[in-house]
Amino acid sequence: MKQEDEMSLNLLFLHGLGCGGDTISMLNAEQPDIVSFFRGVGVKLLWHHTLSVKEGSKVTDLFRDILDGKIQLDILLLEGAVPAERNSHSLGGRSFTRWCMDLANVSEYTVAMGTCASFGGIPAVRGNTTGATGLQFEKEVSGGLLGSDYRSRAGLPVINLPGCPAHPDWVLETLHLIANGKLSETDLNDVNMPLHFYNSLAHHGCPRNEFYEFKSSAREYGQMGCLFEFLGCRGTQCESDCNNRLWLGRTGSCTRGGFPCIACTSKDFPHEGSRFFETELIGDVPKFLPRDVPKAWYIGITGLSKMATPERLKANAVSPHRIHTPKNRKGD
Ligand code: SF4
Ligand code: SF4
Repeated sequence: MKQEDEMSLNLLFLHGLGCGGDTISMLNAEQPDIVSFFRGVGVKLLWHHTLSVKEGSKVTDLFRDILDGKIQLDILLLEGAVPAERNSHSLGGRSFTRWCMDLANVSEYTVAMGTCASFGGIPAVRGNTTGATGLQFEKEVSGGLLGSDYRSRAGLPVINLPGCPAHPDWVLETLHLIANGKLSETDLNDVNMPLHFYNSLAHHGCPRNEFYEFKSSAREYGQMGCLFEFLGCRGTQCESDCNNRLWLGRTGSCTRGGFPCIACTSKDFPHEGSRFFETELIGDVPKFLPRDVPKAWYIGITGLSKMATPERLKANAVSPHRIHTPKNRKGD
């Protein structure tokens, strides 16, 4: 454990338009917890909007000291979207939006925590009366508050950690990679999400995979079957490692809890014009198909799968618990 005077990585949080859920999620980190993590890695928390005692002019004095170069800013971490400057509240005579831009321009690394800070998220839905945007993207469009060409002092774009909320590991492991100089632009995908967390799908590792393969689907919540065909699961379309990493003490995930993945890490979350918890169909075919699966293949494979579905899976899929166990076929 490092002592206070050995803390070498200055971290500043800002909170834009958002619910604060990313902070709550980060505080749920258990392996390690956030205090042990900060001490172990040598993170010095300059200020956090709800965890710090400092308020008012003491905070804006801190911001000014950073801009004046009296205090080095190693990591700027934003949760929540950023409003257009004309709609922004003021802190010490300067708009929150302007503080975000100015502090990002002197920070070694800039990190967007959660979907709102990354892509605008819920505050940027249709109408968007506040002019909300993510730090470097608005939905799938590059630009956002800081512009496509923005690079932090270390030469990286904004590191996007979408999720509603972001998993605590996604945040703390990113800080750990930064602290050890192990995060470069080649470690990010096309919208600057670290591949370390976002190079698989939420579907991978879901315990309902056998049901998915045979298109044995739950019809109602509380049943064991796959949630894709009728109940709106987008785990096959959503980049995250939720079902391998797991949440809440590494015990659960959305689909393990019986809840469909609503693709909260996606650029276009919350998917305006679409419904959660219900699979939209065109004819009999889901409107949103699994990544990498052409429609014709999906239709063909689904037909074959349904012909081959074991009775065990058909029955278990619509049951709240397993009622049939695997058995050999007669004659085997
Ligand atoms: S419930 Fe969703 S994540 Fe799980 S197997 Fe079905 S489609 Fe995949
Ligand atoms: S399973 Fe899907 S909806 Fe749930 S947290 Fe992961 S990405 Fe978000």
